[in-house]
Amino acid sequence: MRNSKSTQLLFELSAPGRRGLRAPASDVPTGPAESLVPAEHLAASPPPLPELAEPEVVRHFTNLSTYNMSVDTHFYPLGSCTMKYNPKRNERLAGFAGFADLHPHQHDDTVQGLLELLYELQSMLGEIAGLPAVSLQPAAGAHGELTALMVAASHFRELGEPRTKVLTPDSSHGTNPASAAMAGFQTITVKSQANGCVDLDDLKSKLDTDVAVFMITNPNTLGLFDRQVGQIADRVHEHGGLIYLDGANMNAILGRARPGDFGADMMHFNPHKTFSGPHGGGGPGAGPICVTEKLAPYLPSPIVARTGDQYRLAKTEKSIGRVRSFFGNVGVLVRAYCYIRTHGPDGLRRVAENAVLNANYLLSRVKHILPVPHGDRCMHEFVATAEQLEKDKGLKQPAMNIAKRLLDYGFHAPTVYFPLTVREAMMIEPTETESKATLDAFAETLFRITDESEDLLSDAPHTTSISRPNEVQAARKPTTKWTPG
Ligand SMILES: *Cc1c(COP(=O)(O)O)cnc(C)c1O
Repeated sequence: MRNSKSTQLLFELSAPGRRGLRAPASDVPTGPAESLVPAEHLAASPPPLPELAEPEVVRHFTNLSTYNMSVDTHFYPLGSCTMKYNPKRNERLAGFAGFADLHPHQHDDTVQGLLELLYELQSMLGEIAGLPAVSLQPAAGAHGELTALMVAASHFRELGEPRTKVLTPDSSHGTNPASAAMAGFQTITVKSQANGCVDLDDLKSKLDTDVAVFMITNPNTLGLFDRQVGQIADRVHEHGGLIYLDGANMNAILGRARPGDFGADMMHFNPHKTFSGPHGGGGPGAGPICVTEKLAPYLPSPIVARTGDQYRLAKTEKSIGRVRSFFGNVGVLVRAYCYIRTHGPDGLRRVAENAVLNANYLLSRVKHILPVPHGDRCMHEFVATAEQLEKDKGLKQPAMNIAKRLLDYGFHAPTVYFPLTVREAMMIEPTETESKATLDAFAETLFRITDESEDLLSDAPHTTSISRPNEVQAARKPTTKWTPG
């Protein structure tokens, strides 16, 4: 049954004469409007605003807020996105007037509290990364990638080495090659072996002194930790290149392994994933980057520095310039700080251990119906294939159909058709904040769905207000203007 909730706009709900309030007559003497505003600027008639009573407006917006799924309302196993619970305490702390009401142009002396927090966050991220120099400026993970590649480009320019290429594995997130292209590099894809890890021979054949950076996600987008990463880093370094670690999957290794220790020269964090900032719907996020001492002089300015017990905004020596206005997306950074301080080093390690435990539990429960081509064990997420259902049931696009049908059962869909190296991919990331009961309910729903008729699946979802929008058109050409009738 299609959801009966109203999707009418306020304009359509409007009826002449309805009011939310009745203002008393003005007692300020006014002359004719024409005497105050030149005639050519006067509208011929009042604007056609909707007329509604207050309860209608409240219901309208409250109902709209229930159309989407969210971490607060549903299990949200969207692979690669780390949709963990966003602690409400961190929302409250980020909303403190001392953070939220500051003016970005205030003098350093008057924002010492915020600067101290950002300085400590720089140090904590540097320690977790094993890479000491930190910029909090980038506004998202992808922006962090671009910023770090610009840092690398400056470094090679200074060395007088015009390196032109960036290598990315075929399983990489689309932002990696996109960032490389935006930073002016030629991107070259490195193949994976059948086990999902980097093909070292293919890497070797593509390494030369034109390669500036090898970008690697570890654990990778198949949820596997590539144990060759040390060897890979040695090879790339022998050719004078740098290793960039896409840190979107840090939730799997927090406090267990440090990218700087396994060979990375640069990385980004996604605080909105790993450190529980709320995200979805396009932001706001943040993408702080951490780099080696050698690359520190090129970081965007300003960074937060300390002299004695005074904090101030400082310039880096050979800065690539600013990549974001003011201090970056401070709200997300404050939440990340609160999250890290709340957990402490032992707590962060347990976050990673439980994220990996939850993913492995779910993998073990569902692999007989959704096989996992790359092994029996995973890190914080795994990539299953729905290919078998295509063969068994003749179901077209089985991954998409299962994803859509899950919505009817009150589960957000996993990521589908990514990474591109797995057919009918379903990328499932449960996160550590889910209970065993939730994981069991999800697994049992998957069993039920894979038993359902093709008709039920190919028309799903049946209970949402919109069924199957054209996703490309909806993103590229959204209808944002209402026209009467
Ligand atoms: C999310 C993600 C990114 C991009 O991060 P944004 O903050 O969304 O820009 C890059 N790589 C991987 C593997 C990701 O999961």
